[in-house]
Amino acid sequence: MLEEVLEKYCADMGFSLPEGACALFRRYYEALSSAPLNLTAVKGEEDTARLHFADSLALLAMAEFAGKTVIDVGTGGGFPGLPLKIAVPGCDVTLLDSTGKKIAFLRDLCGELAVSARCVCGRAEDLAFDSRHREAYDIVTSRAVARLNVLTELCLPLARPGGLFIAMKSVGSDDEVDEARPAVDKLGGRIREIRDYQLPGGVTHRAVLVEKISETPSGYPRKYAKIVKNPL
Ligand code: SAH
Repeated sequence: MLEEVLEKYCADMGFSLPEGACALFRRYYEALSSAPLNLTAVKGEEDTARLHFADSLALLAMAEFAGKTVIDVGTGGGFPGLPLKIAVPGCDVTLLDSTGKKIAFLRDLCGELAVSARCVCGRAEDLAFDSRHREAYDIVTSRAVARLNVLTELCLPLARPGGLFIAMKSVGSDDEVDEARPAVDKLGGRIREIRDYQLPGGVTHRAVLVEKISETPSGYPRKYAKIVKNPL
């Protein structure tokens, strides 16, 4: 069932999954369902295929991932970064989360699946002051981590000028997008496109595509408490 959902979804997008990818998605699903951690509220294989795997793979229609460096901020159970790595083995993926147990789960899982995603435990706003990570990525992704004005300050500093930040949001996020415009401007971004997309079963989700057009000023991101208390 999971395999059918994913194969049909990808075929409709004009994308073919690499050999063996469906078997990896099945093992991923099994690992998620048996993990003692509370990694997801989504249960069952069909909903996992639609709301986690297909939702993550939707980004394949929005940017070229092959050969790119990608960081997934607040990846949790690996979404969207790990499905993207499974679908496009030739992209260099870093999975970032501030919760050690989640990163430990992902590290074990990547080992079991023989998928070479880098699993990093840390906070996005701290990584942004490490020269190995600041403005180092072609693509920064993030789903369900924070409101867009806050999320922009966490993510945009990690994107290289010319790179892309993709925020996964619900369709009811018009006000949230407007509220984030000053943060996007200030931190060197420009909203390129708001793309609504359909998942199998008819749910519509949204991706906000932010281009990095110039360097992020050196004082940003601020400390987390400041970002949240006084968003740009
Ligand atoms: N992206 C996943 C998980 C969302 S839950 C999904 O869509 O299913 C949000 C996750 O972001 C949590 O795992 C939390 O630990 C992590 N997180 C929150 N703030 C963060 C920060 N500043 N830096 C890194 N990770 C963060």
